[in-house]
Amino acid sequence: MKLQIPENIQAITPYPPGKPLDELEREYGVKNSIKLASNENPWGPSPKAIAAIQDALGSLNRYPDGSSYYLTQAIAKHFGMSAQEIVLGSGSNEVIEFLVKAFVGVDDEVITSHPSFLMYQKFVQVRGGKNLVLPLKGMRHDLQAILASVTARTRLVFLDNPNNPTGTYINPADLYTFLSAMPEHVIVVLDEAYVDFMDMSYQVDIYSLIKNSDGRCPVVSLRTFSKAYGLSGLRVGFGLMAKEIADCLHKVRQPFNMNSLAQVAALAALEDTAFFDQTIKKTITGRNILMRGVEELGCKSYPSETNFFLIDVGGDADALYNAMLYKGVIVRSMRAYGFPQCIRITIGTDEENARFLNAFSECLKELEYV
Ligand SMILES: *Cc1c(COP(=O)(O)O)cnc(C)c1O
Repeated sequence: MKLQIPENIQAITPYPPGKPLDELEREYGVKNSIKLASNENPWGPSPKAIAAIQDALGSLNRYPDGSSYYLTQAIAKHFGMSAQEIVLGSGSNEVIEFLVKAFVGVDDEVITSHPSFLMYQKFVQVRGGKNLVLPLKGMRHDLQAILASVTARTRLVFLDNPNNPTGTYINPADLYTFLSAMPEHVIVVLDEAYVDFMDMSYQVDIYSLIKNSDGRCPVVSLRTFSKAYGLSGLRVGFGLMAKEIADCLHKVRQPFNMNSLAQVAALAALEDTAFFDQTIKKTITGRNILMRGVEELGCKSYPSETNFFLIDVGGDADALYNAMLYKGVIVRSMRAYGFPQCIRITIGTDEENARFLNAFSECLKELEYV
């Protein structure tokens, strides 16, 4: 074999997914392990989504509806927008990919922050575009530095709000000022994967940002069914944007990118407001309990507007991550993200949270971090 691998592809490092439970149990010989590493919904998918999938199984011999008509209509109604302003993806990750495919050519520039979600940069590398990666400032997106870095070649700016992995949010007033100063040729993508967990007073008015685009930079909002809606395994996300941008994204997507089970399940999940409201409520209660528990053990936890938060463990985070694996608890070490003393944990069920606190307490003592 004589592969000619292009330089931009060689340069890509694979995305590090959270360790799967099966793998942990196989490798470490532990049972009943728990995963608090990927910001999933611990209360499962909505029972209504499961029922919708069961009803749709008999039609799997047919291709899906390529326009995802019913799901798109329901999302449009939910946001008071039109179907032409919505693009669905196999996870919001795919919508990120569409944006980069449609708008970034060789040597075009894309601005992202670090540490932040890693997928933005990867798609840019695939296209042969240039990543401009700016460090967070005080754990938040450095809006001034981003503005100062914009050039005529800048196509996209990605801002996850709240940010993963820090859990911090952008002050809405700061964001509006930033958007007013942004040149019109740049698309600002607000990745709002965790917006549902955010305090209402911090949420930005996406509707008016998208609708009032005259003389302003366009704004795209990315949403997902993977977090609060509990459908990570099905891969459903979407973007809200001006019709002109949506039209470009539809050109680069496959005609059947949304499978039929994903379409019916997401529709049912969107309509199950009781399950959704419970998820938000229980997440915030769990977050408070966990944060208090962590502080009582002598560690600092960072404020978060999401279903996860960072903990300064007072020692090497990789070692703590490993020690936790032996106790059957999967968390994320933030060393690779530039926080060598931090782990990130996802809020779990009450039992999972208690299990985490026990294991965490034991590991801190074993490693003599406290
Ligand atoms: C989890 C997450 C997403 C969601 O990705 P999907 O492809 O919709 O599962 C997007 N952005 C950020 C920052 C995330 O953490």
